[in-house]
Amino acid sequence: MRIDLHTHSDRSDGTDSPAELVRRAGDQRIDVLALTDHDTTEGWQEATEAAERSGVVLVRGIEVSARFAGSAVHLLAYLPDPTHPELVAELDRVLDGRNGRLPAIVTKLRGLGLDIEADDVRRVAGQATALGRPHVADALVAKGVVVDRDDAFSRYLGPRGPAYVDRYAADLPTMIRTVAAAGGVSVIAHPWASRHDHEALDEAGLAALQDAGLAGIEVDHQDHSPEVRTVLRGIAGNLGLVATGSSDYHGSGKVDHELACNTTAADQLDRLLELAADARARSGRDAPTVVGRP
Ligand SMILES: [Zn+2]
Ligand SMILES: [Zn+2]
Repeated sequence: MRIDLHTHSDRSDGTDSPAELVRRAGDQRIDVLALTDHDTTEGWQEATEAAERSGVVLVRGIEVSARFAGSAVHLLAYLPDPTHPELVAELDRVLDGRNGRLPAIVTKLRGLGLDIEADDVRRVAGQATALGRPHVADALVAKGVVVDRDDAFSRYLGPRGPAYVDRYAADLPTMIRTVAAAGGVSVIAHPWASRHDHEALDEAGLAALQDAGLAGIEVDHQDHSPEVRTVLRGIAGNLGLVATGSSDYHGSGKVDHELACNTTAADQLDRLLELAADARARSGRDAPTVVGRP
């Protein structure tokens, strides 16, 4: 079984449409795929229809921008009811913050002497619901200011860059509880990625989040070295957290994140889906289930 639980379409900052993404997964003999665009469920419907046609098992998810102990954390929320009022309100707040940040970033870039406008960013963003820094980076690439997204982040847009603008993010423990209330399960994405401060996500911190309802952590991810993966797998084992692995595929929007470059073990997916079924039953919500049979 090839299981990839973290991918992006062009509804956030990927480059494939949701249908193209599912089709590509089928072509590459991927059995189970999760679509996890940033802060939006916009791609779910199209991906669902494509999965029903292709036979790829689809897990519908969201990668929520959250904050914990002052640092940015990405939370993978799988199978929540997308109409749950608190979840909708919180995602709207995050999206407003993301879109509202764009003019501020553009102003800073112009202040640095770069010839860029918000429309340049909107043009490269295409179908995206969530306009983000990757789209600003794409606009800078299109103008020949930087060579690629990584270059744009290290020179201008990253947390230590001169054009960085902070924005709203959901409180992590609150969001984990909200996802549970919406009948879904939570997994922390790339918890120890070096570009995020992650001191608070040590074993004690993760245990506290587990008390709030955290189901798992993404262990196998390109942002984790072999050593980090070993330590995180140990922590997951100690705490009884599900350990996942995934590509964080963005199409041509991110190099070295090919589909299924990291995968989740079948027994870990089974546990995650059992926890999702429990959460769904407890919530009383009409939360989605997996499309197709794993
Ligand atoms: Zn992420
Ligand atoms: Zn991601």
